[in-house]
Amino acid sequence: MPAPEKETAAVVLDCRDHGESDKIVTFFCEQAGRLSGIAKGAKRSKRRFVNKLELFSSLYLTYSLPRHGSLAFIAAAELQSSFLNLRKNITLYNAATVIREFVLIGTSEKERDDRVFEILHWALQSLDKKRPPQTVVILFLIRFFEYIGYRPDLLHCHHCGQSVAAQQSAAFNYIAGCLVCEICSSHGFQTTVPLSLGTIKLLANAQNQPLERLHRLHFSLQARNESLDMLHRYGRQLFQRDIHSWEALRGKGK
Ligand SMILES: [Zn+2]
Repeated sequence: MPAPEKETAAVVLDCRDHGESDKIVTFFCEQAGRLSGIAKGAKRSKRRFVNKLELFSSLYLTYSLPRHGSLAFIAAAELQSSFLNLRKNITLYNAATVIREFVLIGTSEKERDDRVFEILHWALQSLDKKRPPQTVVILFLIRFFEYIGYRPDLLHCHHCGQSVAAQQSAAFNYIAGCLVCEICSSHGFQTTVPLSLGTIKLLANAQNQPLERLHRLHFSLQARNESLDMLHRYGRQLFQRDIHSWEALRGKGK
């Protein structure tokens, strides 16, 4: 008896040739989380998959899960959006590539998480609308870290418990994932990045706003640089590895 077919919205995170005529594709799916599957005949088929399995495409998938083995069988894909703008602009593309790398390393196969799907789709859509790419990455990461269980604490000093709201500045301890106030900072921590109070407020706001209001948060150049530095170090610490796509994000585009 063939495995039952399922349907889900999905975003393409990776696609590579497999043998003479197939492709192996990795998606992040609304219903199934990160999912890898084989698209039989996708290299040759002119109808079923053509131009659909491109990186970052938003699709509606029909697939089935085999009883043995880990690869899903991709039966059909219906294109929702190919996010053409982000594909044609290197700065937007580089930002999408950072987002992709974090989703690939920060999620597990077949672990459903609606919020991760939602913020991923939101971020790609925002880039496609040519929103400031570095800001989109910041907003994505601050929510993504929370959804995978590592929400940074942006209200209180981790060491003395005081609120940092009344201070001039603070620092973020990227090993502990929380703030260190001015006074505790002066005792010397090697593993912190400085954050101005304005940046802390913006990031705390970004944790709490509904998705449709995130674009109202404006990051100055200073806020952007501080946030990116903090999120990059925090991400490297969490995953214990370099983020390969990061350099291209920082080298270009704002
Ligand atoms: Zn303190």
